[in-house]
Amino acid sequence: MKIGDEEFNIPAESKRALDVEVTLMTAMTYVVIFAYALDYLSWPVFYLLFHLLYMRFFMGAHDRMHTDQLRRWPRAIELMAEHFAVVAVPWAEPIDSIRKKHFTHHLEHMPGKVPGGDMLKDPHSIYESGGFWRSLFYCTFFEEAQLVIDIRNRNITTSRWIRLAIYLPLLVLFVLSFGWEKYLGVVLAVRLMSAIAWLSFSWFSHTQTYRFGLDKKIPGFVKILLRMTNGKRVSDGFFRHTSHHAWPQVPPDKLFLLDEAVMRYPDSMPEMIRSS
Ligand SMILES: [Zn+2]
Ligand SMILES: [Zn+2]
Repeated sequence: MKIGDEEFNIPAESKRALDVEVTLMTAMTYVVIFAYALDYLSWPVFYLLFHLLYMRFFMGAHDRMHTDQLRRWPRAIELMAEHFAVVAVPWAEPIDSIRKKHFTHHLEHMPGKVPGGDMLKDPHSIYESGGFWRSLFYCTFFEEAQLVIDIRNRNITTSRWIRLAIYLPLLVLFVLSFGWEKYLGVVLAVRLMSAIAWLSFSWFSHTQTYRFGLDKKIPGFVKILLRMTNGKRVSDGFFRHTSHHAWPQVPPDKLFLLDEAVMRYPDSMPEMIRSS
């Protein structure tokens, strides 16, 4: 890609690498969940560890959708990596369904395009369909909102049924082994982290801070704090979400190159229109 007089050739990350990263984060999250279920951790300590790992999973799972699909594992391994997840509710959405919606979200947020804001056509962007409180509601009950929209759109994929068949018995087993209190403790952690993630990455990034050069305006200590609590992948993605929409295949740790280049060449800056 060319910005001003500068030429950039930045390859996408490999699907293979992200499958490993996301699977590792999920496995470590499960260790923390069972440490909590077995009473080795109190809920606040559990939540802290859970957040550290699961926010990294959340962003890794997003970045995996934009990877180089030619560099991948054999399908059997890939299937395990893609469907191994912390499923707090058995109706949680599987990767193929989310991926399709995420690409629609990208088509609605392209350079020069005004986001449509139609929930049924672009369910992934549901958090932009109103003010803060409405967004908070949809971010907290994201899975349920997606399920209702999918039923209305007749868009229930086979993998959703497979996920239900696998995770529903596992959830019953978890409740029978550790009790409702522990189960609800895990659900609360998942919902809290997920609401924070959707609210900041979705509502905040698309409606409040949708511009290039944002990174330069954020105080250093905020960036350090965000990086410590959520990881580099998250902080890179968070501060450069506008650049991510301009160049979706560019890995998050390379987006700063393009973000800084458009600031040097304002005439080359893609027109990114924020959601209202
Ligand atoms: Zn976005
Ligand atoms: Zn994306």
